[in-house]
Amino acid sequence: MMEISALEDMIEIGVYPKRDITLVKGKNASVWDINGKEYIDCIAGVGVASVGHCNEYVIKAINEQANKLITCPGIFHNDTRALILKKLIDITPESLTNVFLCNSGTESIEAAIKFARFTTKKTDFICAVRGFHGRTMGALSATHKKTYREDFEPLIPGFCHVPYNNFEKVEEKATGATAGIILEVVQGEGGIRIADKEFLKKIRKLCTEKGIILIIDEVQTGFCRTGKMFAIEHFDIVPDILCLAKAIAGGFPMGAVICSASIKLAIGKHGSTIGGNPLACAAAIAAIDFMENNKLAEKAAEKGEYFIDSLRKHTFKSVREIRGLGLMIGIELKEKSKPFIDSMMEKGVLVLPAGPNIIRLLPPLTIEYQQIDKVVETLKEVLP
Ligand code: PLP
Repeated sequence: MMEISALEDMIEIGVYPKRDITLVKGKNASVWDINGKEYIDCIAGVGVASVGHCNEYVIKAINEQANKLITCPGIFHNDTRALILKKLIDITPESLTNVFLCNSGTESIEAAIKFARFTTKKTDFICAVRGFHGRTMGALSATHKKTYREDFEPLIPGFCHVPYNNFEKVEEKATGATAGIILEVVQGEGGIRIADKEFLKKIRKLCTEKGIILIIDEVQTGFCRTGKMFAIEHFDIVPDILCLAKAIAGGFPMGAVICSASIKLAIGKHGSTIGGNPLACAAAIAAIDFMENNKLAEKAAEKGEYFIDSLRKHTFKSVREIRGLGLMIGIELKEKSKPFIDSMMEKGVLVLPAGPNIIRLLPPLTIEYQQIDKVVETLKEVLP
């Protein structure tokens, strides 16, 4: 049998910048490679394993549901699906009353774009410079980065990008053809950039006045990551559509689009064969219950503050800025981050980039304080 990494490299179509380790096991904030080496995982499946790898409640829920019913298309009612729909409505703002279930973040954006067009009968969207919303053609049209877009043009017409946190530019671009504004409240892939509260409040007002659908992408920030169940709670705004995925189901693939009553759809206008399948729904109920029962939002806030304070106590010559919200942390360097990310991995800590010179930390929210200390110590060893 060929070595696992060679087998993957030979057959998988090469879209990921692969790292030279093979992960085979995870528990809470640790993962292990095929040689038994343990790593502290500050990637967490790119912000997915918020309740910890192999969370025992999620495992139990998946096992129980797998023995009952794994798949059930949307044309039938289902007991487990009804429970997660109710749960999502209960944990999101009161004015969000309807849900579409899908399988990923990009699908949630894709649905939001269609829902906004269908509801408003308008075509255009305003998005942000450095915004990231996914890789399918609609979500990619909303995504800003040139290297992600350039080989796939023409993308969907009617999308423009304005500087983040610049309300005047948004106002300039808002026309009678604008169906929606699509924004993250903390740009993740774009470098852990946090929105200004005033900016978001003005956008909310503009959308209400002009009949524009405000679509907030909380695919990365949702489910306690920033120290609140949803990051919009820091900013006192409620969108017309809230897009969710990643951490929703404890690592099981799932996405959700949570809509206000103003969003209108009709039978047959959208759908997904396995969106809202009972297995994903059961995993999501267990993951969200775990978040609530264990106060993961508060814990993420406290641990995030401890993490950032510990980093700021040290003087790094190579660091331009440390910023974050909850356990969504960015360390902006004065130089390229890749060599440091590689050295961290050698020393048993997995971290992500966000652009060429930022180190991004998205650990499970269940990470232990002593593991945070170890990550900080390793950063001190590695970064000048
Ligand atoms: N939106 C945001 C803010 C994201 O961070 C991501 C993924 O990183 C996506 C959308 C796309 O999600 P997915 O990779 O599940 O399609």
